[in-house]
Formats: sequence, structure tokens, C-alpha cells
Amino acid sequence: MGPWDDPLYRTTRDLITRTAEQVGIDPNVGVRLAQPDRAIIVSIPLRRDNGDVEVYTGYRVQHNDTRGPCKGGIRFHPHVNLGEVTALATLMTFKCAVVGVPLGGAKGGISIDPSGLNRAEMQRLTRRYTTEIINFIGPGKDIPAPDMGTNPQVMAWIMDTFSMTSGYAVPGVVTGKPIELGGSQGRLQATGRGLVYTVTDAAEHIGLDLKGATAAIQGLGNVGYWAARRLAYRGTKIVAASDVTGAIYNPKGIDLKAAYVHMQKTGGLAGFEGAEPMDPDELLTMKVDVLIPAALGGVIDADIARKLQCRILAEGANGPVTSEGDAILRQRQDEIFVIPDLLANAGGVTVSYFEWVQGTQNFFWSATEVNKRLQTIMVTAFKEILKVHKNEGLDMRTAAMAVGMRRVSEAMLLRGLFP
Ligand code: GLU
Repeated sequence: MGPWDDPLYRTTRDLITRTAEQVGIDPNVGVRLAQPDRAIIVSIPLRRDNGDVEVYTGYRVQHNDTRGPCKGGIRFHPHVNLGEVTALATLMTFKCAVVGVPLGGAKGGISIDPSGLNRAEMQRLTRRYTTEIINFIGPGKDIPAPDMGTNPQVMAWIMDTFSMTSGYAVPGVVTGKPIELGGSQGRLQATGRGLVYTVTDAAEHIGLDLKGATAAIQGLGNVGYWAARRLAYRGTKIVAASDVTGAIYNPKGIDLKAAYVHMQKTGGLAGFEGAEPMDPDELLTMKVDVLIPAALGGVIDADIARKLQCRILAEGANGPVTSEGDAILRQRQDEIFVIPDLLANAGGVTVSYFEWVQGTQNFFWSATEVNKRLQTIMVTAFKEILKVHKNEGLDMRTAAMAVGMRRVSEAMLLRGLFP
């Protein structure tokens, strides 16, 4: 494992190894893909408003750029470490390949709890991190985006820092920007919306009517919230949801807009009056039609996987299932239809790609145009993976990885090994 050792990295490597063996990927390619191209570790000194200086560790890992410039989010979270960022960068390589966008995989992050920072501190932290990695990012090199703990405002500060250093505006250095700075219509909602396109196809495949169905969401953040809103629009009842402050339950369906107002006001879901509080540990294993883990990785281990009672598991989070949990899910394929992260949450990077294209052309599309193109890409990717699942007898996760690995592998063999 070398310097990359981390539970999510091990899970990701297991998936690469298993897929490579099962679908016959060239072993020389498989061995290369198990390690990232490049990993940068930086120290970020931050002066707090009280005058104290604290030093945080930041990372940017570029896993593979064979199919195009590296692409991937930036995460501000206390769990961030080299191995986790490397695993997430690796997933990005295959995610971009699964949806056929001409980009490679990267990820970045700072090991910090951002909830303890005020706006000015957050801005200084972001600008210093950007400066430390500035030689490694750029519109044709590596394009960051939001992830857990970051948002369009953070992207605006990255864009400004990069632009001020360059001497001219470079909006193409990040995606997920505010619309006023060249962001794309629909980017904020894209991961949740894309996820629901795949849930719709999965429901049709297993004969589930989404109207009147039930769903539970672990992590009502940007991905979970917009997925929930979209599912509710399709007539599904969101009976349970959680965030770091707690979990809530309402068998009649949670009023999501009211829950959002409560979260904005109080900083979390806890205490929301339109639902009962529930034990967050019970959310994943409750009986619902659609379960959406949209928070941290590794939350579904073997024990939870055995207890799951959903019919569709739609992975909004990156790497929510451990290798052991996945072994159980493979045995339970007839009961639970898995939409793996590589497909389920790829709507975010897809619209990031649209943002990059629109910015390059200085020609911006309407929300309708963005959503139509997103739907086409998600539906096509779903069909391609389902075909591999059926024709080659692979579970959905391995099928998605097979589609991604084949594309990356073909590109690598065409380019050849340098020197
Ligand atoms: N952070 C998101 C992901 O994990 C989006 C990445 C991007 O848009 O570049 O897919």
C-alpha cells in the first residue's frame, strides 16, 4: 500500500484488482492504475481572528490524466488524509470514464473541521491552500470543484486567487463557481438530479413505481438534499433524513423546503418540528424502497449490508460501501439493486464538464439545455452498465468499474508508456 494506506484506498484497490481480473484488463495497465500519477502535500498556516496561527495539512492528488486534464473536488473535513484523497482521486478517473467526459481523475482536501471557521478565516485558508497548489492546477491541467465542506463561494476564492496570480481572469480553473462568475446553470443541483435519473431507470428495471415509494437519505447536504427534492417531485415520500446533528423521521414524508429553512436557521436538522427525531444508526437499515447514503465513505460494512432492507441502494456518497460490505451486496443482488457511486453521483462532474466547456467557448446554456444533456449522459451510462451487468454476469459495481477501466485502459494503451 505504501504511503496511500487508508480503508477507502484499500476498498478502491480491491475493486480495481477484482475488476481487472474478472474482465481481463491488461495487467500492466492494472498495476499502473493502482497508484496515482502525483500527490502533493502542503502545510497551510492559518491566522485565526484571535491572532493565533494554526497549521493544517492539505493535499491534491492527481490519479490519472490519460483521457484529459485531471478533475475532481476539494474536501474540507477532519477525516481527510493522503490515502482517502488518493482513493477519491482514483474514483474520479473511472467516474469521468463511465460518463464518457474527456477528463482524468483528481481530488484535494484539507484536514480541518470548517464549521469552526468564520467567513474571513475560511477565505484565508482557501487562498493559502490555492497558492500552495497553484503550479499544479489550471484549466488545461487540473480543475478543482466543490466536495464535502466546500461550496461555490470557496470556488470563487480559488478562481480569484489563481486569477490574481496570473494577472488576468481565469474562470476555467475551477467548476462549481457561482453563476455570476461563469458557473453553469444546474451545477448545484446536478449530482442530486443525476442520481435521480439513475434511480428512475433502476426503478423501471426492477418494476418499482417511484410514485408512492419511500426513501431515506443519509446526509442532507448538497447531494442528498437535491436528490431528495427531485425524488419528492417524482412522488416518492422522503420518510427519513439525517445530517451531522441528527436524524429525523416522518412516515407521511418530510417537507424538504421547511427542513432546509430550519437547517439554514439552526445549522442542522436536529430539532426540526415537522418530523420525529430518530436514531441516526437506524436510518441505513430501515425498511424503505430507496436508500441514499450521501455522506461519508465506508458507512456500509458487512454487518450493515446484511441488515439493509432497501430495494435500491443509490450511492450519492463516494465509496459508501466497504469491500466486506460489497461482498455481502453481491450475494444479495436479487434483493437489492445497487447503483454504484461511479454512476449514481456522476451527475456533478458531468455538469462540471459542461461548465468547463461553456466557459471555454464563452457561450452559456439554459438550465433546460443543461438538464437535457445531463439526462442523456446519465441514461446512456446506466444502459451501458446494465448491459455489462446482464451480458457478462457482473454485479452493478463491477460492471460500472469494467466500463470505466476499459475506457481508461484503451486510452493508456493507445498513448503508450512514457518514455
Ligand atoms: N466532488 C464531486 C465528485 O465527487 C464533483 C467533482 C467535479 O465536479 O469535478 O464527483
